[in-house]
Amino acid sequence: MSHTPEFTAQPYQGIATFGRRPLDLRAAGADVAILGVPYDSATTYRSGARLGPRAIREQSLLLWGYNNALRVNPFETLRIVDAGDVDVVPVSIEATQRAIQSRVEDLRGAGAKVLLLGGDHSISLPSLRGHASTLGELAVVHFDAHPDTWNEEFPGHRYSHGTPFRRALEEGLIAKGSYVQVGLRGPTAGPGDYEQARALGARVLTADAVYDLGMDGVLEEIHDAVRKRPVYVTLDIDVVDPAFAPGTGTPEVGGLTSRQILQLVRGLKGFNLVGCDVVEVAPAYDPAGITAILAANLAFEFLSLWGISKSHKKRS
Ligand code: MN
Ligand code: MN
Repeated sequence: MSHTPEFTAQPYQGIATFGRRPLDLRAAGADVAILGVPYDSATTYRSGARLGPRAIREQSLLLWGYNNALRVNPFETLRIVDAGDVDVVPVSIEATQRAIQSRVEDLRGAGAKVLLLGGDHSISLPSLRGHASTLGELAVVHFDAHPDTWNEEFPGHRYSHGTPFRRALEEGLIAKGSYVQVGLRGPTAGPGDYEQARALGARVLTADAVYDLGMDGVLEEIHDAVRKRPVYVTLDIDVVDPAFAPGTGTPEVGGLTSRQILQLVRGLKGFNLVGCDVVEVAPAYDPAGITAILAANLAFEFLSLWGISKSHKKRS
């Protein structure tokens, strides 16, 4: 197969769109739109994820196209465009949420699946709203060191990067019993944090559980929780150990390896994946760019999953 014309340039040439895909803000006729969300005003500790999309795009230039593990070239199988960034408003989370939801709905209305690059984890709530508005209740696979199902991290303020999935559950965006959290660990304020997540309906797989169950066991749990529904996958890069992903706002030791998270994402093959995001990459704490490299590769794995389902559809 021949390479698409824009792919003939050297990786270090030209403007850094994701994977050297064409820039197309409207994504007309595209299968997938990459959407940057440079917003980090909802972080509670170290900020900096607003520069995540730019760093991930920069590190995505070396994604040559063929995925040897999944045996697919998503850049050839799919028309993938970089839809630029959401017009965020750093001083208003509500205005930013509206802007995110609106871009997601427009891109989906144009027929594209959307892969968002954060930004802090608060961006997932408006993304879920933008998906559920046409798809209804979603199954959600949530990779993270933290449950993000707290009620209010700051009294009287319902939105922060620690509350998006509490709000999503309250708003009925997530189907009952179809929500799984993977990779939780680290000190919390008290013993109730994980229990609270469970009480809200989350299936909680801590990082310790991931090591005990092994990759196949974790994938079985995920399949059991989310099968047969449209699935949205949200990946907080802090699910990975800071040895592999130091560039993030709230690092927790004892996390997954790069290889394990790759295996888990690849294991979602065959799901009805409707949308996804990769969030919380903060380049200021990422000296060699390794966190952004990992995030770019994880985004590539999601694209590959869509590439596989499209080539299956063509064959049948
Ligand atoms: Mn998170
Ligand atoms: Mn987290």
